[in-house]
Amino acid sequence: MSNNNNTQNIYSDFDRQFIAGEWIEGQDNSVNTDTNPFNGETLVEIQQATEDQLDEAYQAASKAQVEWAKKTPAERAGLLYKVVEVLDQRQDEIVDWLIKESGSTRIKAMVEFGTARAITLEAATMPNRVHGETRPSKIPGKESFVYREPIGVIAVISPWNFPFHLTQRSIAPAIALGNAVVLKPASDTPVTGGLLLAKIFEEAGLPKGLLNVVVGAGSEIGDAVVTHDVPRLVSFTGSTPVGKHIGELASSGKYLKKVALELGGNNPFVVLKDANPDNAVKAAVFGKFLHQGQICIAINRIIVEDAIYDDFVARFTEHVKTLEVGDPNNEDTAIGPIINKDQLESLQDKITKAVDEGANLIISGEIEGQLVPPHVFTEVTADMDLFRNEIFGPLVGIIRAKDEDEALALANDTEYGLSSAVFTEDMQKGLRFARGIKAGMTHINDITVNDESNAPFGGEKNSGLGRFNGEWILEEFTTLHWISVQHKPRDYPF
Ligand code: NAD
Repeated sequence: MSNNNNTQNIYSDFDRQFIAGEWIEGQDNSVNTDTNPFNGETLVEIQQATEDQLDEAYQAASKAQVEWAKKTPAERAGLLYKVVEVLDQRQDEIVDWLIKESGSTRIKAMVEFGTARAITLEAATMPNRVHGETRPSKIPGKESFVYREPIGVIAVISPWNFPFHLTQRSIAPAIALGNAVVLKPASDTPVTGGLLLAKIFEEAGLPKGLLNVVVGAGSEIGDAVVTHDVPRLVSFTGSTPVGKHIGELASSGKYLKKVALELGGNNPFVVLKDANPDNAVKAAVFGKFLHQGQICIAINRIIVEDAIYDDFVARFTEHVKTLEVGDPNNEDTAIGPIINKDQLESLQDKITKAVDEGANLIISGEIEGQLVPPHVFTEVTADMDLFRNEIFGPLVGIIRAKDEDEALALANDTEYGLSSAVFTEDMQKGLRFARGIKAGMTHINDITVNDESNAPFGGEKNSGLGRFNGEWILEEFTTLHWISVQHKPRDYPF
């Protein structure tokens, strides 16, 4: 992978909207102040978009999509391959933005760059993977074809935690498959979750209007993004409450739109008594604390079999104490800042509540600015907030299970079903256990945090609807058209 970032040519104008292929000023009275969560520095101030500007974006997308869908698969793949080239040339610039805008540590920014690059390469193969079918007909002289077509315009709403990847995993396949996109990035990450990608696609030769980025508050223009006449599908990644609201609105009888919903998680990491203890501890620490625990597939609960509970806690504690908390730009930093003050407050509340509920706090530290050091609680039980709800921060509860059966029951005792993991040296047992977990993804002897461009990513229960990546997103972002040809006149009854 080349990495020859040219500092003379760094992208600018991030204080604009990207609508109909132009960088224009937002017309709303409100301003989005985009700040660095580590030091509070203002990165950019963006005048937000109005509903009229959102409408312009949808009209431009609608027009551009018609022409784009007529392009050959090679032409559409060509745009995606060019995007990969630009990604590689601008890797340092992208990583730098991820660090300063989303508080990503250098390690997390590199992981995110890698997953976004991988899904772009996967998307480049999609134009040539789309295929239809012929079906036998019961009617003499009839031929029956099934065409797979683009959906049209797709609305994308993305979160702040893995903004670059979680946006790209929707927009790259959408565009590869002949659709146009109107994207609303999260307010904490308008650049890495939207405007930066628009610059990259533009440099790669994007036709005007095919991708539009509209920066506005979700609470202000969110409903309009979802209910506008133009988009046929809303691809949303974010929290379960907002996702449920969007699902209710978009697929209601009034609007009848399709939805793809990737929502929250409460991911169990189960350590059975025959697990390799060193491997389990290393995985538990990385899978919990990567990006300060602000990942939908981060470990949310560590469930350990009674026979090895005390030993696991001792080893886990020892490892957690070695983690550096601080400037995310520093190569040695494991834990950087929390994204914003609201999230910080919610973590402070969770710490207080866990102590009040009787969990045993064995590692803690002073919160400085938006830096929260690891907080580890033992003897957490199924009735406690730390067990029941998504944490989204560097706090964790370790739960004791008397045996394998209880560990499985505890793992499934949640309304979520996104990712999960189990550690054991016995693969028969591991597979049996994994298949017993009601979730979209389970990893044996690995962390819960895995995303591969050719494997189905998504959740069960309150974690969402649909799957990303590979042929699953290819199906989700296309639709079917049955076309029949009656070669000989039919003998109609009247
Ligand atoms: P969020 O739901 O607050 O926001 C997500 C996006 O929705 C943002 O762009 C926001 O501006 C927008 N939004 C907010 N209110 C809206 C409304 N009424 N109408 C339309 N859009 C609206 O989530 P977040 O805080 O950005 O992200 C954290 C949450 O996302 C966590 O729960 C996490 O688990 C989840 N998440 C899930 C996945 C996944 O793949 N399943 C990935 C990342 C994050």
